[in-house]
Amino acid sequence: MQQLKERILHDGRCLPGGVLKVDGFVNHQMDAQLMHDMAAELVRRFHGVPVDKVFTIEASGIAPAIMVGWLLQCPVVFAKKKRPSTMHQPPLEARIRSFTKGVDTSIYVSREFLRRGERILFVDDFLANGSAARGILDLVCQAQARLVGMGFIIEKAFQHGGDALRREGIRVESLAVIDSLDDGIIRLRP
Ligand code: 5GP
Repeated sequence: MQQLKERILHDGRCLPGGVLKVDGFVNHQMDAQLMHDMAAELVRRFHGVPVDKVFTIEASGIAPAIMVGWLLQCPVVFAKKKRPSTMHQPPLEARIRSFTKGVDTSIYVSREFLRRGERILFVDDFLANGSAARGILDLVCQAQARLVGMGFIIEKAFQHGGDALRREGIRVESLAVIDSLDDGIIRLRP
């Protein structure tokens, strides 16, 4: 995805602790055309993989996930980071470590929206250490649904979350892979 890579190099900023700020087109202001094009590329990469539902995690995963869901014409569910008072039945719950906030937190999904046997494609903005992805996998397993793949806009390969997931046989696709943010320089994998 050449246009994504160019955008990262042009607008991305390195923050301390290996954080990439892409607030100008993914995480705060969003570029809807680019979001669509990225979703189309993820759909292309998962061509032939049957998907019943797209699953993501609030908040930044929702935009790419809804684009993928629209293209695949299937429902999109997002895991919530707070249990809302409107969730009357006990939801499924998993623990994750928030990479950007550095705290452990729970994520929740209502049992009615993640069901046994459903084929789930997880879509998110970033893959770093893989904690969010593992939390999602935990929810999918608890629901006895089936994870068919994971698609990310940006993978930070130097944090190795993707390596571990791939070693376990999970199909992981990332549109841009960052090898290093050392010395404030964004080094993208060609
Ligand atoms: P992981 O759980 O894989 O360590 O981190 C993934 C989650 O943390 C993503 O859902 C994303 O919201 C957030 N995240 C991880 N790294 C970055 C980063 O460099 N920049 C931004 N903006 N978010 C990140």
